Amino acid sequence: MRMRKLAMTLSQLPRHPLKDAALEQYGTDGEVAAKWVASIDMKKPFEEVDGVIDLGAGNGILGIAALLLGAPHAVFVEIDYEVCEVLQESIKSMGFNDRCRIINGDVSDLGDELVHDVVIMNPPWGRQTPKADRPFLLAANRCARSTIHLLHGRGAAHIDPWAEENGWISNRWMEADLPLPATYAHHSRKRGSTEAAMWWLERPAR
Ligand code: SAH
Repeated sequence: MRMRKLAMTLSQLPRHPLKDAALEQYGTDGEVAAKWVASIDMKKPFEEVDGVIDLGAGNGILGIAALLLGAPHAVFVEIDYEVCEVLQESIKSMGFNDRCRIINGDVSDLGDELVHDVVIMNPPWGRQTPKADRPFLLAANRCARSTIHLLHGRGAAHIDPWAEENGWISNRWMEADLPLPATYAHHSRKRGSTEAAMWWLERPAR
Protein backbone atom coordinates (compact mmCIF):
# COMPACT_ATOMS: atom_id res chain seq x y z
CA MET A 1 0.00 0.00 0.00
CA ARG A 2 1.35 3.40 -0.93
CA MET A 3 2.24 5.85 1.84
CA ARG A 4 -0.43 8.44 0.88
CA LYS A 5 -3.20 5.88 0.84
CA LEU A 6 -1.97 4.42 4.14
CA ALA A 7 -1.90 7.87 5.78
CA MET A 8 -5.40 8.65 4.51
CA THR A 9 -6.81 5.33 5.65
CA LEU A 10 -5.27 5.69 9.12
CA SER A 11 -6.45 9.30 9.44
CA GLN A 12 -10.01 8.15 8.80
CA LEU A 13 -10.14 5.59 11.59
CA PRO A 14 -12.62 6.30 14.41
CA ARG A 15 -10.93 8.75 16.78
CA HIS A 16 -9.50 8.07 20.20
CA PRO A 17 -11.93 9.69 22.68
CA LEU A 18 -8.97 11.22 24.63
CA LYS A 19 -10.94 11.52 27.85
CA ASP A 20 -8.58 10.28 30.53
CA ALA A 21 -5.61 12.62 30.89
CA ALA A 22 -4.19 10.52 33.75
CA LEU A 23 -3.67 7.65 31.28
CA GLU A 24 -1.83 10.06 28.95
CA GLN A 25 -4.16 9.22 26.13
CA TYR A 26 -3.01 10.49 22.80
CA GLY A 27 -3.88 9.60 19.23
CA THR A 28 -0.85 9.26 16.96
CA ASP A 29 -1.34 11.35 13.86
CA GLY A 30 -2.19 9.34 10.70
CA GLU A 31 0.67 10.81 8.67
CA VAL A 32 3.25 10.09 11.36
CA ALA A 33 1.93 6.56 11.94
CA ALA A 34 1.95 5.82 8.20
CA LYS A 35 5.47 7.10 7.72
CA TRP A 36 6.81 5.22 10.73
CA VAL A 37 5.12 1.89 10.09
CA ALA A 38 5.78 1.95 6.31
CA SER A 39 9.45 2.75 6.98
CA ILE A 40 9.66 -0.27 9.28
CA ASP A 41 7.99 -2.41 6.61
CA MET A 42 10.57 -1.37 4.01
CA LYS A 43 13.38 -2.68 6.21
CA LYS A 44 11.62 -5.71 7.65
CA PRO A 45 8.33 -6.62 5.94
CA PHE A 46 5.36 -7.21 8.23
CA GLU A 47 4.37 -10.12 5.97
CA GLU A 48 7.30 -12.03 7.40
CA VAL A 49 6.40 -11.76 11.09
CA ASP A 50 4.01 -14.06 12.96
CA GLY A 51 2.11 -11.12 14.42
CA VAL A 52 2.31 -7.79 16.20
CA ILE A 53 1.25 -6.72 19.68
CA ASP A 54 0.07 -3.12 19.98
CA LEU A 55 0.43 -2.06 23.62
CA GLY A 56 -1.79 0.83 24.74
CA ALA A 57 -3.60 0.50 21.45
CA GLY A 58 -6.01 3.44 21.56
CA ASN A 59 -7.97 3.29 18.30
CA GLY A 60 -5.49 0.67 17.08
CA ILE A 61 -3.78 2.91 14.54
CA LEU A 62 -0.34 1.28 14.88
CA GLY A 63 -1.49 -2.33 14.79
CA ILE A 64 -3.92 -1.60 11.97
CA ALA A 65 -1.11 0.00 9.95
CA ALA A 66 0.89 -3.21 10.40
CA LEU A 67 -2.10 -5.30 9.30
CA LEU A 68 -2.60 -3.10 6.24
CA LEU A 69 1.03 -3.73 5.32
CA GLY A 70 0.61 -7.48 5.60
CA ALA A 71 1.06 -8.55 9.22
CA PRO A 72 -0.98 -11.74 9.55
CA HIS A 73 -2.26 -11.06 13.06
CA ALA A 74 -2.47 -8.29 15.67
CA VAL A 75 -3.19 -8.28 19.39
CA PHE A 76 -4.33 -4.96 20.84
CA VAL A 77 -4.01 -4.25 24.56
CA GLU A 78 -5.90 -1.27 25.98
CA ILE A 79 -6.88 -0.57 29.59
CA ASP A 80 -9.79 1.81 28.96
CA TYR A 81 -13.08 0.06 28.16
CA GLU A 82 -14.53 3.02 26.29
CA VAL A 83 -11.41 3.19 24.14
CA CYS A 84 -11.72 -0.55 23.46
CA GLU A 85 -15.18 0.10 22.01
CA VAL A 86 -13.64 2.59 19.58
CA LEU A 87 -10.87 0.10 18.84
CA GLN A 88 -13.44 -2.59 18.09
CA GLU A 89 -15.23 -0.23 15.72
CA SER A 90 -11.93 0.68 14.09
CA ILE A 91 -11.01 -2.96 13.44
CA LYS A 92 -14.49 -3.71 12.13
CA SER A 93 -14.38 -0.72 9.77
CA MET A 94 -11.28 -2.24 8.17
CA GLY A 95 -12.79 -5.73 7.97
CA PHE A 96 -9.95 -7.09 10.14
CA ASN A 97 -11.98 -8.94 12.81
CA ASP A 98 -10.54 -12.32 11.85
CA ARG A 99 -6.94 -11.16 12.19
CA CYS A 100 -7.29 -9.35 15.51
CA ARG A 101 -7.64 -9.94 19.19
CA ILE A 102 -8.44 -7.21 21.71
CA ILE A 103 -7.38 -7.50 25.32
CA ASN A 104 -9.14 -4.96 27.54
CA GLY A 105 -6.63 -4.85 30.37
CA ASP A 106 -3.50 -3.46 31.93
CA VAL A 107 -0.22 -4.19 30.13
CA SER A 108 1.24 -5.05 33.56
CA ASP A 109 -1.07 -8.07 33.78
CA LEU A 110 0.07 -9.68 30.52
CA GLY A 111 1.56 -13.08 31.18
CA ASP A 112 4.40 -14.90 29.52
CA GLU A 113 2.07 -16.75 27.17
CA LEU A 114 1.39 -13.71 24.98
CA VAL A 115 4.35 -13.57 22.60
CA HIS A 116 4.69 -12.40 19.01
CA ASP A 117 7.66 -11.37 16.90
CA VAL A 118 6.94 -7.64 17.13
CA VAL A 119 5.66 -5.20 19.75
CA ILE A 120 4.76 -1.72 18.59
CA MET A 121 3.76 1.05 20.99
CA ASN A 122 3.35 4.72 21.71
CA PRO A 123 3.04 4.39 25.48
CA PRO A 124 2.34 7.12 28.02
CA TRP A 125 5.61 9.07 28.12
CA GLY A 126 5.45 9.63 31.86
CA ARG A 127 4.80 13.35 31.70
CA GLN A 128 1.68 13.10 33.90
CA THR A 129 2.85 10.24 36.08
CA PRO A 130 6.61 9.75 36.22
CA LYS A 131 7.72 6.37 34.85
CA ALA A 132 4.29 5.60 33.36
CA ASP A 133 6.16 4.07 30.42
CA ARG A 134 7.87 1.54 32.69
CA PRO A 135 5.09 -1.13 32.69
CA PHE A 136 5.03 -0.84 28.90
CA LEU A 137 8.76 -1.46 28.57
CA LEU A 138 8.50 -4.43 30.93
CA ALA A 139 5.51 -5.85 29.03
CA ALA A 140 7.26 -5.36 25.68
CA ASN A 141 10.29 -7.14 27.08
CA ARG A 142 8.09 -10.17 27.86
CA CYS A 143 5.86 -10.10 24.76
CA ALA A 144 8.30 -9.34 21.92
CA ARG A 145 10.19 -12.30 20.52
CA SER A 146 12.52 -10.26 18.31
CA THR A 147 11.62 -6.59 17.92
CA ILE A 148 10.20 -3.64 19.87
CA HIS A 149 9.13 -0.51 18.02
CA LEU A 150 8.74 2.41 20.40
CA LEU A 151 7.60 5.98 19.92
CA HIS A 152 8.65 8.24 22.78
CA GLY A 153 9.63 11.81 23.58
CA ARG A 154 12.75 12.81 21.67
CA GLY A 155 14.62 13.58 24.85
CA ALA A 156 13.96 10.22 26.52
CA ALA A 157 17.47 9.38 27.70
CA HIS A 158 16.49 6.21 29.59
CA ILE A 159 15.59 4.05 26.58
CA ASP A 160 19.11 3.13 25.45
CA PRO A 161 20.40 2.19 28.94
CA TRP A 162 17.18 0.25 29.62
CA ALA A 163 17.59 -1.63 26.33
CA GLU A 164 21.18 -2.50 27.10
CA GLU A 165 20.34 -3.75 30.60
CA ASN A 166 17.63 -5.97 29.21
CA GLY A 167 19.62 -7.44 26.35
CA TRP A 168 18.27 -5.38 23.44
CA ILE A 169 20.22 -3.59 20.73
CA SER A 170 18.70 -0.12 20.55
CA ASN A 171 18.58 2.12 17.53
CA ARG A 172 16.88 5.53 17.65
CA TRP A 173 16.30 5.88 13.94
CA MET A 174 13.48 8.32 13.17
CA GLU A 175 12.07 11.58 14.45
CA ALA A 176 8.68 13.23 14.06
CA ASP A 177 6.82 16.30 15.25
CA LEU A 178 3.53 15.08 16.62
CA PRO A 179 0.62 17.45 16.26
CA LEU A 180 -1.13 17.82 19.62
CA PRO A 181 -4.85 18.13 20.16
CA ALA A 182 -5.68 21.57 21.61
CA THR A 183 -6.54 20.09 25.03
CA TYR A 184 -3.02 18.72 25.43
CA ALA A 185 -1.18 21.74 24.06
CA HIS A 186 0.22 22.64 27.49
CA HIS A 187 2.46 19.57 27.32
CA SER A 188 4.74 20.99 24.73
CA ARG A 189 7.21 23.81 24.60
CA LYS A 190 6.59 24.28 20.90
CA ARG A 191 2.99 25.30 20.41
CA GLY A 192 0.80 22.73 18.77
CA SER A 193 3.31 19.92 18.45
CA THR A 194 5.66 17.82 20.47
CA GLU A 195 8.99 16.32 19.52
CA ALA A 196 9.02 12.55 19.26
CA ALA A 197 11.49 9.91 18.16
CA MET A 198 11.22 6.27 17.17
CA TRP A 199 13.37 3.49 18.60
CA TRP A 200 13.93 0.10 16.99
CA LEU A 201 14.99 -2.48 19.59
CA GLU A 202 16.20 -5.82 18.37
CA ARG A 203 17.32 -8.93 20.22
CA PRO A 204 20.90 -9.75 19.28
CA ALA A 205 21.25 -12.66 16.84
CA ARG A 206 22.24 -15.86 18.65
N1 SAH B 1 -1.41 3.58 20.40
C1 SAH B 1 -2.38 4.67 20.27
C2 SAH B 1 -2.72 5.31 21.61
C3 SAH B 1 -1.54 5.90 22.36
S1 SAH B 1 -2.07 6.70 23.89
C4 SAH B 1 -1.83 5.67 19.30
O1 SAH B 1 -0.63 5.61 19.02
O2 SAH B 1 -2.59 6.52 18.84
C5 SAH B 1 -1.68 5.45 25.09
C6 SAH B 1 -2.85 4.49 25.31
O3 SAH B 1 -2.45 3.58 26.33
C7 SAH B 1 -4.14 5.14 25.79
O4 SAH B 1 -5.21 4.75 24.97
C8 SAH B 1 -4.32 4.64 27.24
O5 SAH B 1 -5.67 4.45 27.60
C9 SAH B 1 -3.57 3.33 27.19
N2 SAH B 1 -3.00 2.91 28.48
C10 SAH B 1 -2.45 3.70 29.45
N3 SAH B 1 -1.99 2.95 30.46
C11 SAH B 1 -2.25 1.65 30.13
C12 SAH B 1 -1.96 0.40 30.75
N4 SAH B 1 -1.36 0.33 31.93
N5 SAH B 1 -2.34 -0.74 30.12
C13 SAH B 1 -2.96 -0.69 28.91
N6 SAH B 1 -3.24 0.46 28.26
C14 SAH B 1 -2.89 1.61 28.86
